[in-house]
Amino acid sequence: KENIMTLDTKKLLEMDRNSVFHASTHLKQYAHGELKGRIITGAQGIRIKDSTGIELIDAFAGLYCVNIGYGRLEMAEAIYEQAKKLAYYHTYVGHTNEALIELSDRIIKMAPAGMSKVYYGTSGSDANETQMKLVWYYNNVRGLPQKKKIISRHRGYHGSTIAAGSLTGLDAFHAHFDLPLPRIKHTLAPVYYHRADSHMSEQEFSRHCAAELEKMILAEGPDTVAAMIGEPVLGTGGIVPPPEGYWAEINKVLNKYDILLIADEVVCGFGRLGSDFGSLHYDMQPDLMTIAKGLTSAYQPLSGVIVGDKVWKVLEDGTDEFGAIGHGYTYSGHPMGAAAALCNLDIIARENLTENARDTGAYLQQRMQDTFADHPLVGDVRGVGLMHALEFSSNKSQRQAFDPALKVGPQIAAACLEQGLIARAMPHGDILGFAPPLVVTPDDIDDIVARTEKAVNKVTDQLILSGDFSEREKLRA
Ligand code: PLP
Repeated sequence: KENIMTLDTKKLLEMDRNSVFHASTHLKQYAHGELKGRIITGAQGIRIKDSTGIELIDAFAGLYCVNIGYGRLEMAEAIYEQAKKLAYYHTYVGHTNEALIELSDRIIKMAPAGMSKVYYGTSGSDANETQMKLVWYYNNVRGLPQKKKIISRHRGYHGSTIAAGSLTGLDAFHAHFDLPLPRIKHTLAPVYYHRADSHMSEQEFSRHCAAELEKMILAEGPDTVAAMIGEPVLGTGGIVPPPEGYWAEINKVLNKYDILLIADEVVCGFGRLGSDFGSLHYDMQPDLMTIAKGLTSAYQPLSGVIVGDKVWKVLEDGTDEFGAIGHGYTYSGHPMGAAAALCNLDIIARENLTENARDTGAYLQQRMQDTFADHPLVGDVRGVGLMHALEFSSNKSQRQAFDPALKVGPQIAAACLEQGLIARAMPHGDILGFAPPLVVTPDDIDDIVARTEKAVNKVTDQLILSGDFSEREKLRA
């Protein structure tokens, strides 16, 4: 049998095309080689390397998950030690393991006040499936079987399984899959840049979003709405920090109608915004929280649902009435995941990575503003902590979008790649996202911004040449 390590890249990619079904990929283009693959062979710090020797700065930390950076031997050792000691045992019927006990205690101490227990899975999607089951169970125990609808937001991202994919508010995740499920509704995305009335202040826009939510609740019937889910900062839908006062306004409406709030902290949790959780950053006061990604910095697959006291009490009462809760995964509370998470949290604390996300994040925001606020192609420059986005516009003063067929966002991401930089073309609109590992330094930021500027200028010139962007726009800016 051939040793695949000795095969060259071309042959390996051919084998890949013959046997791997890739996530989020144009299958036919990949099969026909129009879309080139890339074999990642190693990574260190904020850089990844491919099989042809190309090195790239990863300014998106994988899928905003490798928060402590790549290549940490300490993580490998923690996982190895756990594997030697206890690679696996389940957590059904009260079975547990030492790593899990220590991890859960730490998460509860880090979380906002009033959080009580952590349930574990292996992905953000399965954790949000758990959220939905818990919310439905909660209202069945309370004798409110009709109170089951869940409100999410357009442009929210909560996963791609059936229920979590329904919570997601992006067409590409629904169309041709017969989603969303009927009990899931989507309200206005809090995107200040796209507010209808350009005279509205951020505070006014937040009140407008809350009014839209209330309108939806009243139209559906408050006694049919169980929960709302939201990311503290909209992520995959375009990296959009909430307008000022947004979560306080939303909370007023939810409290009025006895509706739970689920904070999806899969991206924001564990330091990315410069706080332990996005909920703390924005004082969201959630009843339930979803965690994944930064919990282990992706060194092991691990996710969780943090359940607040109010819901926990009802779940306990439910099992008194109905027996053991009918929910569990083989890998719930996996000891290898827990060991990775503990080591990851140690590194974040020891190296002050949350503080670095705050301070270097502020530097990133400043450098991006200085470089792009007046750029003719850039309609919006926004971010918080180490989450940042540039949104491109064909007419800056009117905040007009480009024709999607031009694929301006993907063109700019491709131009960044030519500069040795991975920034992500977000799936909605012409938006370039940045979410580097939390170990990024001010020098790295200078490098990232300089490479991005070259890429944006190159595409601007190409668009002018092809007549898709006018010189007048450039002069006006
Ligand atoms: N929730 C949020 C906010 C996410 O960004 C993601 C993934 O990007 C998910 C949930 C789904 O996580 P997973 O891809 O691990 O299922």
